[in-house]
Amino acid sequence: MATLADSVTVVPLTGLSKDLGYRVPRALAPVIQVGSLVRIPLRSRTELGLVKALTAPGDFPFSRLRYLLDAVYPIPVLTPDLFLLAEWMAAYYATSQDSVFEGMIPGPVRRGKTLKKRSYLRLKNQPDSTVLETLRQRAPRQAELLRFLSGQLQPLPKGLVLRRLKVSSASVAALVKKGWVEETHQVEERRAYDDELAEGEQVCGSGFVLTDEQKCALDDINQTIELGEFRVHLLHGVTGSGKTEVYFQAIRRTLDKGGGCIYLVPEVALTPQTVGRMRARFETVSGEKTVVWHSHLSEGERFDAWYALASGAARVVVGARSAVFAPIPNLRLIVVDEEHEPAYKQAEVPRYHGRDVAVYRSRICHCACVLGSATPALESMFNAEKGKYRLNRISRRVDDRKLPLIHLVDMRRETFRQRTGVIISDFLAQKLRQRCDRREQSILFLNRRGYSSSMLCTECGYVASCKHCSVTLTYHLTGHRLLCHFCGFEQPFPRNCPKCHCQTIRRRGIGTERIEEIVRRLLGKAQVMRIDADAMVRRNHFRQILDDFRKGKIDVLVGTQMIAKGLDFPNVTLVGLVDADISLHLPDFRAAERTFQLLVQVAGRAGRGDRAGEVVVQTYLPHSPPIQFARRADFEDFLQVELEQRREFHYPPYRHLIQHIFRGRNPDKVAFFAERWVRELEKVAIADLEIRGPAPSPFEKIKDNYRYQVWYFVRNVTRAVTRLSALRSSFKMDKDVIDVLDVDPVDLL
Ligand code: ADP
Ligand code: ZN
Repeated sequence: MATLADSVTVVPLTGLSKDLGYRVPRALAPVIQVGSLVRIPLRSRTELGLVKALTAPGDFPFSRLRYLLDAVYPIPVLTPDLFLLAEWMAAYYATSQDSVFEGMIPGPVRRGKTLKKRSYLRLKNQPDSTVLETLRQRAPRQAELLRFLSGQLQPLPKGLVLRRLKVSSASVAALVKKGWVEETHQVEERRAYDDELAEGEQVCGSGFVLTDEQKCALDDINQTIELGEFRVHLLHGVTGSGKTEVYFQAIRRTLDKGGGCIYLVPEVALTPQTVGRMRARFETVSGEKTVVWHSHLSEGERFDAWYALASGAARVVVGARSAVFAPIPNLRLIVVDEEHEPAYKQAEVPRYHGRDVAVYRSRICHCACVLGSATPALESMFNAEKGKYRLNRISRRVDDRKLPLIHLVDMRRETFRQRTGVIISDFLAQKLRQRCDRREQSILFLNRRGYSSSMLCTECGYVASCKHCSVTLTYHLTGHRLLCHFCGFEQPFPRNCPKCHCQTIRRRGIGTERIEEIVRRLLGKAQVMRIDADAMVRRNHFRQILDDFRKGKIDVLVGTQMIAKGLDFPNVTLVGLVDADISLHLPDFRAAERTFQLLVQVAGRAGRGDRAGEVVVQTYLPHSPPIQFARRADFEDFLQVELEQRREFHYPPYRHLIQHIFRGRNPDKVAFFAERWVRELEKVAIADLEIRGPAPSPFEKIKDNYRYQVWYFVRNVTRAVTRLSALRSSFKMDKDVIDVLDVDPVDLL
C-alpha cells in the first residue's frame, strides 16, 4: 500500500500554465493518485485540476496551502505516462500543455460529468414460508418481487425489474428494510462497447494458421512483448498479406500477459469488419471487451467508453487517432494500422501526428509499437533503414494469391482516338461489362466527390468560386447545388451566367456523382452505388452500402479514396482508378508518394478472394515514376528514387518541416506581418534552421481568412520550436493576424 499524500502538485485546467500546491484532506487521501481529477479552490472560484505529483512544489510553505475540495472520480483520469507524453507533445508541437490535456481527456470527463450509477437488485435472504404467505395477502406486489428475484442467478437492474413487475420503488424499499432484498449500485458502462460499428461477422473466432512470413513477423513482435522493452516494428506487408492477423495475435499475447493494447486505425467507420473480427476473436472466445473509440460517439458513449478503460474494466481499445491517449493502466502494445495515412495528423491544435505520438508513448511505457502498412511512409522506411525501427516484411499474399495485374490506359491516346473528352475509356468499360456478365464485383475510385469540379461560362469565361475561399465551387447533383469543399458554402446552380447572363454555363471536370451516373448508363441493369464523404453524413446509410456490397447486392461501388483503405471484399475482381493524376498535380513535395500509395492501396482491393484481380488505371501521365513503380508494385525502387530526390532538396525525412501559418481577414496585414516576422527571425540566425518564404498558401483564402506560410527545415524539432516560441512571445503581432506552427505537417495547402 502506497503512503497517503498529504499534499499534491496540481495542474489547473484553466489555461493558467503554472503548477499549484494543495493540501489533501485526510478523508480524500485514499483516492488521490497521480492523474486524479480534482476540484480546487483557485482565487475565489472552484476549478478543475489534475494531480501531477503526490507532494506540493517546494516553493510555498505547507501551512499556507489550501485544501483540495474533492476528487471528481474514484479513479485517475490520466495514467502517469500520459503526463510525460503531454510534456513532450507541448514542447514538440509548439503548444500549451493545457491544449494537450484537452486533446487527451474527453470533453465530458474534463467537464466533470458525474458518473451514472445504476441500481441492481438481488435476493439477500429468503423469508420463511409463513412470512411469505402473510406477505402474499398483505402486499402481493412485494411477494411477487421476492418470488421473481429468487429465480435470478445474477443481480438485475432495478429499473428493469420495476418495469417488468410493475412494482413501485416503495415496495423495493420495504423489502430492503426487512433485509430480504439487497440493492447495489454500479457505475454504468453498458454503452462503452459500441456494437453498431461491428459488422456481424463471427467467423475466424480462433484465428488462422499463419503463413511462414506472418509467423516470422509475429515471432519478432512477440519477442519484444516478452522482453517488455520499447521497440518499434515496421510491418511492411503487401495488401492482403494478413497484417491484421498478425496484429490480432500480438494483441492476444499481450492480453495473456496481463497487458493492455491500443489499436489505431485511420477511420473506425471504415473498418466495421475489423471491429467485428476483434469482437469475434477477443470477446466471444475469452470474454475480453473491446472498446471502440471514434469521433461519432455521443457524449454518453464517449464517457462510458473512457470509463471502461480508465477503470480497467476493458483493456483493449480500437479507435481513431485520439485513442492513442486511452488511459490504459498497463499499456504493453500499440498497433498503428495503415501508418502512412495522413488522417493520423490532427488538423487543429494540438496538431499532433497519431503515429508519432504512438511511438513516443510506447517509448515512455517501454512497450512494443507496431506500425503496419503496405505502403509505409517514407519517414518510417527511413527510420527502418537507419535501424531505429525493426523492419518485418511480408512479401506474399495469404494462400499465395497473386497481386492484381495493373493495366495503364493512356488517356491522351484515348482522347485523340475518340476526339472528345473521355471519362471512362473503352477498355475500362469493356472490363466492367465483363465483370457484370460474370457476376463479379468492381470498385471505381475517383478522388473527387460531387458531380463536376467546376462550372464555367463558355461565353465570358466566368468560373463560379466560393465567396469565402479561393477555390472553385463543385456542382452536386444531389440538391442541384454548388458547394465549397473547404467551408461548406453552398448556392443553387445558376441557370444563367451571373456575369453575362448567357445560358452558356457548362460543368467541367468529373466527380464521383458523375461517374455513378455514367456507369449506370453504361451497364444498364447493374446495381451501382456511391460511397464518399457525402454518403458518410448518414452513418447507417454508409454501413448499409458496405453490407449490401458484401452480400453481393451491389455490382459496382463508386467512391473516393476514403474507401481505398483496408476494405476486404473477396468477390471484387476489378478495380478502376478513373483519374490517377489528381494527386500528382498537387503542389506538395509528397505528391509522388501519395500517388504511389494511392495506386497500390487501391489496387490492393482487387483479387482478395479465390479469383485473380485486375486493375485499370486511367492517366494522362502513364510514364511518371510513381505510376510506373506502382504498376510493377515495386516499393523498393520507388523508395530509393524518392529518397534520393528528397535528399537532394533536403526535404523530409532528411529534415523535419515546420510550417508557420499566418492568417487574418486583411490580406495586406497578413503579408506584412509574415514578412516582418521573417526579417526578425533572420536577425537572430538560429543554427540548423533554414527559412523559406513567406509566400501565399496555395489556397490563399479559406473561410474568409487570407493565409501566408513560412517553412522551416530543421534537424532537431524541439530545439527549433524552443527558439521559435521564445521569439514569438516577444514579437509584436497585430491583433488581427493569427499565427500557428504546424510541426511535421501533412497538408501543405
Ligand atoms: P492486409 O491487412 O495485409 O491487407 P488482411 O489482414 O485483411 O490483409 O488479410 C487478408 C485476408 O486473408 C483476410 O480475409 C484474412 O481473414 C485472411 N487471412 C489472414 N491470414 C490468413 C492465414 N494465415 N490463412 C488464411 N487466411 C488468412
Ligand atoms: Zn468556401
